Amino acid sequence: MKINVEKMLEYQASDQVIYKAEQAFASSSESKRYSQILSKLNELKTAVIKSDKEAADIRKDIEKRETQLGESGRDLEKRTAAMSGEKSAEEIAKNEDTLRQFEENLDRAEKEFARSVKRLEEIEREAKHALIEIKQCSADLEKSKAVLQKKRSEMQAELSDEVKRRKELQAELRPEELEIYKKVRKENIRLPIVVEYVSGTCRGCGMHVEHDLRGKLNESGDAAECPNCHRILYIK
Ligand SMILES: [Zn+2]
Repeated sequence: MKINVEKMLEYQASDQVIYKAEQAFASSSESKRYSQILSKLNELKTAVIKSDKEAADIRKDIEKRETQLGESGRDLEKRTAAMSGEKSAEEIAKNEDTLRQFEENLDRAEKEFARSVKRLEEIEREAKHALIEIKQCSADLEKSKAVLQKKRSEMQAELSDEVKRRKELQAELRPEELEIYKKVRKENIRLPIVVEYVSGTCRGCGMHVEHDLRGKLNESGDAAECPNCHRILYIK
């Protein structure tokens, strides 16, 4: 394709000023701080959800164990009641076994129960602590957001002339020129995206692309896409 190299470069120069300011804003300490606080807040919230789930699981487990224990207690009662008055040595031994087993189960259940209760208390303490942290973190986030908004407004004010200029320059481009520029720009390729093609090499990525572009770039104003980095290559 053919492009008006001079106008494209002028437009790009203006776009680049705005791009650089936006990049500087995105990597500013204020932006970084905001992202850090935001990710910390999300981490805290995820942790709270996780421990909520753990607590619910523990409670369910306790309930289940209580039911099991109740059943086995009733079982024991039934057996005891069913015992005949005249007990054989074998019967006595069997009953003692059952009783011992029940006591063992009870003992184990009590230990597990104590462990579960301890963990539940821990979770509760952690949750309380996490809620305080979340509150603090949310307040920090609000503050950081306000700082960032102020910085953004300042940047926008500083750039307003350049934005106006870019708009004017954009109006001077042909629709197909603007379209290809915007298409490449959307790909998040580092500016400049309109670069010179010199001795078969793309000035954007440094690749030798003569073979791929054979016949496409012959005279001044010719433009083609770099097959490697997708920038717009032109001949002066
Ligand atoms: Zn390239």
